[in-house]
Amino acid sequence: MRCPYCENEDSKVIDSRHTEDGRAIRRRRECEECGRRFTTYEKVEEVILMVIKKDGSRQAFDRSKLLNGIIRACEKRPVSIADMEKIADDIERGLNNMMEKEVESTFIGELVMERLKDLDEVAYVRFASVYRQFTDINTFVAEIEKLLTNKKKS
Ligand SMILES: [Zn+2]
Repeated sequence: MRCPYCENEDSKVIDSRHTEDGRAIRRRRECEECGRRFTTYEKVEEVILMVIKKDGSRQAFDRSKLLNGIIRACEKRPVSIADMEKIADDIERGLNNMMEKEVESTFIGELVMERLKDLDEVAYVRFASVYRQFTDINTFVAEIEKLLTNKKKS
């Protein structure tokens, strides 16, 4: 951390404590060159990820909404809530790691489908039918046939 007085690059931390609300760490530093002291704050950067919906409108990413969609697809299926939560967590983490500010809702949908495909085929088809909004029975059948072909291969 550069010294604000002499621009020296090296400083040592002489005191470190949480701010009252616990959302930041306040560090007292001392310049190794001129010996003057200054304070730095370390904060978690709160990045809000916006989801672009099919109609072009934006909505803040909501993990619980994502999880609800997964739960709905897995209704009465032998999938544990822990597995569903893990999918939601992994996807949320993956999205955060992308460091994007905006992401298409269809992209998130594809990520969920990727995971459901391995977990439970019925849940996968249910989710896909909502997410891809199969407009006619043919695309729906095509999706199931694709699934069956992949299954035969593996
Ligand atoms: Zn200095």
